[in-house]
Amino acid sequence: MTQSGRASADSVVLGLDLGGTQIRSAAILPTGECIGRRASPTPLTGGPEAIYAACADLLNAVRVDLPSSVRDRLLAIGISSMGPVDPWRGLVVDPPNVVALREAPLADELEARVGLPAYLERDTNVAALAEHWLGAARGCRVFMYVTVSTGLGGAIWLDGHLLLGPDGTAGEVGHACLIPETGPRCGCGGIGHLEAIASGSGLANAACDEMAGAGSTFLIARAAAAPLTGRDVAEGEIAGDALCCGLMDRARKAFAISCVGWANAFNPERIVVGGTLAERQGERWLEPARVAVATTGLRGPAGRVQILPAELGNDVGLVGAWPLATGRHGDPVWRVRRARS
Ligand SMILES: [Zn+2]
Repeated sequence: MTQSGRASADSVVLGLDLGGTQIRSAAILPTGECIGRRASPTPLTGGPEAIYAACADLLNAVRVDLPSSVRDRLLAIGISSMGPVDPWRGLVVDPPNVVALREAPLADELEARVGLPAYLERDTNVAALAEHWLGAARGCRVFMYVTVSTGLGGAIWLDGHLLLGPDGTAGEVGHACLIPETGPRCGCGGIGHLEAIASGSGLANAACDEMAGAGSTFLIARAAAAPLTGRDVAEGEIAGDALCCGLMDRARKAFAISCVGWANAFNPERIVVGGTLAERQGERWLEPARVAVATTGLRGPAGRVQILPAELGNDVGLVGAWPLATGRHGDPVWRVRRARS
């Protein structure tokens, strides 16, 4: 690779945020400022090669447009990808929404095509790095980041670093079972998982399954116009639709009791909540969680934890590329383990 030195306070990182519908890229300055932003749709046909090519084209286009004074300081690429990922080998393992990527060596492919060392991490872990650096978790030694969006996932930050676990999947908080046997089926195949109850896709699936039986004219009309999303269910609640009210109430309760479990199990100083669904819901989503923790959590952790909205919005996947790449570049753990197959 072209760069071998350690990161410095001047280093610039190329960020890549690979999502199920869009790929975004920018150069991230040491201040967290993103410059030269570009985006393109995620190619869902054409196999892994189409995705590698789209990502590399975007990164190279960002790089070419940078002022030379910035381009000369490029250190590495930081990649935020939908999970699960193997961060040591730089692999995207088998994301449920993009079947083209199975055991896909995304980091190695982008290193070869862009000519910079690349570091790959799950999107929720990258978001946690960003929120710790410049957002709602600044100064925390122990916190959790949870995103409530199309999916529901998280990250655990313990004593100054991300908890990864030997498989890199630590923090995947969406797949805890809350309604055994009779709950909705999760995208992972399980029954009654938090993600199936409280994520956008889970809400939409439950709405599809139940709208006819429940006689929900609101949802039936929405579904006739376009495939249902979690946003339809949230708007149906505001409109007074009984099924939507029930589904949203169940989702908030499931999230709230999960927060109690996380507070008790990890004793975090903060639980930082991001993702489009939680952001649109705002206090409506967070306040029941605070009440549940205060009234049913263990006294010590319940009195300590703050449940707060994330601060960096849509940019977390790009901003987090800077601490990701500068934190791992030059640390042999992240290259020696890559060589293992
Ligand atoms: Zn699941």
